[in-house]
Amino acid sequence: MPNPRRKLSRSKRDKRRANWFAKISTANMIECSNCGETKLPHHVCPNCGYYRGRAIYTPGSEA
Ligand SMILES: [Zn+2]
Repeated sequence: MPNPRRKLSRSKRDKRRANWFAKISTANMIECSNCGETKLPHHVCPNCGYYRGRAIYTPGSEA
C-alpha cells in the first residue's frame, strides 16, 4: 500500500513547517516602488498606501 512506513516525529514535522514558513515570508516579498518598504506583490503597500503609482489610502487617516 502506498503509505508512509512510519509516523513522522514531532521534530521532523516541525522542521518541515519551519522551512515552509521561511519560504513564504522571504521569497514572496517585493520592495514598494514608492517608499521601498517590503510588501506582498499585487497588494497595496501597508506603509505608504500606494499601489501602481497611485495612493489608495493615506496611512493614519483611514476610518
Ligand atoms: Zn510603500
